[in-house]
Amino acid sequence: AKQRGSNSYVIYNEELGKRKTRKLKLEHDLHQALVKNQLFITYQPQWNVVDNQLSGFESLLRWKHPTKGLVSPAEFIPIAEETGLIIPITKWVIEKACHQARLWYDQGWSQSIAVNLSIRIFQNGQLFSWVEEALGKSGLPPHMLELEITESMVMRNMDDIIRQLEDVRQLGVRISLDDFGTGYSSIAVLDRIPIDCLKLDRLFTNDLETPNKHAIVKGIIRMAKSLKLDIVAEGVEHQEPIDILTTLGCDVMQGYFYGKPMTPPEVSEWLADLKN
Ligand code: C2E
Ligand code: CA
Ligand code: CA
Ligand code: CA
Repeated sequence: AKQRGSNSYVIYNEELGKRKTRKLKLEHDLHQALVKNQLFITYQPQWNVVDNQLSGFESLLRWKHPTKGLVSPAEFIPIAEETGLIIPITKWVIEKACHQARLWYDQGWSQSIAVNLSIRIFQNGQLFSWVEEALGKSGLPPHMLELEITESMVMRNMDDIIRQLEDVRQLGVRISLDDFGTGYSSIAVLDRIPIDCLKLDRLFTNDLETPNKHAIVKGIIRMAKSLKLDIVAEGVEHQEPIDILTTLGCDVMQGYFYGKPMTPPEVSEWLADLKN
């Protein structure tokens, strides 16, 4: 037993070492990713089940690393946040997504486009000017742009963040609260921050068969409606929860059931299929 114990200790150490090396490598390479065109945006559809039509897209960032292949945003976004690279990256995502949405708009699609923000963006204080510039350059109607924030972001420097959110909202841009239900102070925050839409976390949108989850989701949807908020169910993969969520009054669904995140050419194909 002792033998095995020391072995697994060695393995554990090696694992840890490998992970550290990988992180350092990614951290180093991420500096070049933007200029070397290794970053690209995929778009995941949001489906309105009441009108039975496309409602919007969420922009989800991807990194094609030259040797390591596709790196998940779950891995590189935290690195981008630590290094501050999230600042130029987010500015680029906003611009690119607005431009792309404008192209689709010109083709007759009037769905919204959502962009994820991280806390670092608010420390930088330039969100308003980035958004204004991206809207100006692309000519995208402001109400078609949505910015996604999370409740944990709002906890610190709440007044400053609220002011910045109100500023962009003055432009007509919409604000969504992402991952709702996974943070600590969801309800308290709802009363203070200016939002238009609530995104119900995947944690609550599958396995709605358990009575507790059903009751919680029902309550959240009812509350969102009373607050005049739109609601999007995230990560829906099966028909069953979709039916339940629809009955409970959730109008918009996002998840693999409707479509995975896609590159613009893939979106074009997907859109063409819709027409048939
Ligand atoms: P998120 O904002 O909560 O995005 C939803 C995530 O759920 C995406 O993962 C999406 O691909 C995944 N997803 C969608 N539908 C389903 C489903 O039916 N089942 C399952 N299992 N998963 C589903 P992804 O693309 O790996 O992104 C992970 C996270 O990385 C995002 O979570 C977001 O927090 C962050 N992220 C992605 N792009 C950006 C960005 O441009 N800026 C910032 N700050 N964060 C980003
Ligand atoms: Ca939308
Ligand atoms: Ca999101
Ligand atoms: Ca989410």
